[in-house]
Amino acid sequence: MQQTKILLEENDIPKKWYNILPDMPTPLSPPLNPATKEPVGPKDLSVIFPMELIKQEVSQERFIPIPDEVRDIYRLWRPSPLYRAHRLETALKTPAKIYYKYEGVSPAGSHKPNTAIAQAYYNMKEGMERLATETGAGQWGSALALATTYFDLKCTVYMVKISYQQKPYRRSLMQLWGADVIPSPSNLTNSGKKMLEKDPDSPGSLGIAISEAIEDAATHEDTHYSLGSVLNHVMLHQTVIGQEAKEQLAQVEEYPDYIIGCVGGGSNFAGISFPFLMDKLAGKKNLKVIAVEPTACPSLTGGEFRYDFGDTAGLTPLLKMYTMGHEYVPPAIHAGGLRYHGDSPIVSQLYADKVIDAVAYHQTEVFEAAVTFARSEGIVPAPESSHAIKCAIDKALECKKKKEKKTILFNLSGHGHFDMGAYDSYFSGKMSDEAE
Ligand SMILES: *Cc1c(COP(=O)(O)O)cnc(C)c1O
Repeated sequence: MQQTKILLEENDIPKKWYNILPDMPTPLSPPLNPATKEPVGPKDLSVIFPMELIKQEVSQERFIPIPDEVRDIYRLWRPSPLYRAHRLETALKTPAKIYYKYEGVSPAGSHKPNTAIAQAYYNMKEGMERLATETGAGQWGSALALATTYFDLKCTVYMVKISYQQKPYRRSLMQLWGADVIPSPSNLTNSGKKMLEKDPDSPGSLGIAISEAIEDAATHEDTHYSLGSVLNHVMLHQTVIGQEAKEQLAQVEEYPDYIIGCVGGGSNFAGISFPFLMDKLAGKKNLKVIAVEPTACPSLTGGEFRYDFGDTAGLTPLLKMYTMGHEYVPPAIHAGGLRYHGDSPIVSQLYADKVIDAVAYHQTEVFEAAVTFARSEGIVPAPESSHAIKCAIDKALECKKKKEKKTILFNLSGHGHFDMGAYDSYFSGKMSDEAE
C-alpha cells in the first residue's frame, strides 16, 4: 500500500532551528542606518526588538535551540503533515512523485504562527506587555494575534484601511484572538495623521501601516514591534517546516530533486528549503530549489539587487535585497501576501549566488493550477501557495514529457478559506493576469 500522509510524533518536532548564515557562500551585507550609512548596531534595534531576536538576526551558530515553551505551543498543530499527491499525479499522468508539506493546519491557517509564537515568547520573556504590527490582507496580523493570546500579551494591528473594509473576516479573527485592530492610516500616530492631512480618504498601504506600527513601538516603553517575514530571525524560525519534511521524506526513503516555494518576503520558502540547502551547500546533495513569485511583483526575476528601505516611508534600516524599489505599488492581485516590493536579504544573496532559481507566473495561470489541485487533492489552497502549486505542476509535466521519475517537494503555505472572493472572481471570468 502506498502511503498518502506521512506523519511524525510530537516528540519529533525539531528541537533546534537551522541558521543558514554560517553556511552561505557569500556573507550577508549588513543592514545600514539610512542617515549615517553605517551598519546598524544592536542598540539601534533594541527600541523595537527584544535582545534575543537581535542576537538571532546576526548569529553565526548553525543551530539555535527552540525554547520548550515555544515547542509546547507548536504541539497544538505540529508536526504538520507531509502528503504524497497521488491524486494530483494521476490527474497529470506524470511519472514524477509530488509531495507537499501542509502548513494550513495551524489555527491561523498558514505557516506564519511558526515565527509569531517565537517572537511573542521572547518579547514576553523580556517584559514586554504589548506588540504592534501591520497587516495587509490579515494573515500576519491574525498569526500574531493568535501568538500574543497564548502568552497573555496585548496586540495592536495596524491594518491597511482598504483591507479592513474589504476583508472583514480576517479582521474578526484578529479581534476574536483579542487584538486591537486599527484601520491605517489612523490618527493615533504622527505618520498616520500626516497621511490623513494629505488625503483624508487614503485607502492606506502596507508601507504606511509599517510606519505606524514602528512609531507606536518606538514611543511606548512597554511595546515592541514585530515583523512577519524578510528578517533573518523570521527565516530561522520557519526552518521547522523543512526539518520536519526531511524527516518525513526519509521515512519513505526519498530525497527531493526539486523544492518549490512561493515568495513574498521569503519566509515559507526559506522554511521549506534551507534545511535541504544545508546539504547542497555542503556539497552532499544536488537539488534544484525554486522561488516562485507573481509577475505583478517580480522582485527576484525583475528587480535589482541593491540597498533599499523595507517600508514605503523610508523609516527602516536599509537592507541589501532584490527590490522593485520601496515606492513600487504592485497591482492589486489576490495573493496579497506576495505583494512586497523587496525580499529577504538571505534569499536575495542566495539568488545572486545562483544557489537557488526563481520563476514568475501570471495570476490567472496560478488560479488554474489552484483549481486543478483543489479538484484532485481537495484542499483549497491560498492564492499565495498556489504559485508554488503552479510551478510544481509545470515541473511534473516536464517530467511527463521527458519520462523522468523526479521527486518534487513543494510547500503548501496555507489554506484559502478566507479567499473565496478571489475564487469567485476567477470563475466569473473577470480576473485579469495582473489585477483583481
Ligand atoms: C504571508 C504568506 C505568504 C508570503 O510570505 P513569505 O514570507 O514569503 O512566506 C505565503 N503564503 C501564505 C499562505 C501567507 O500567509
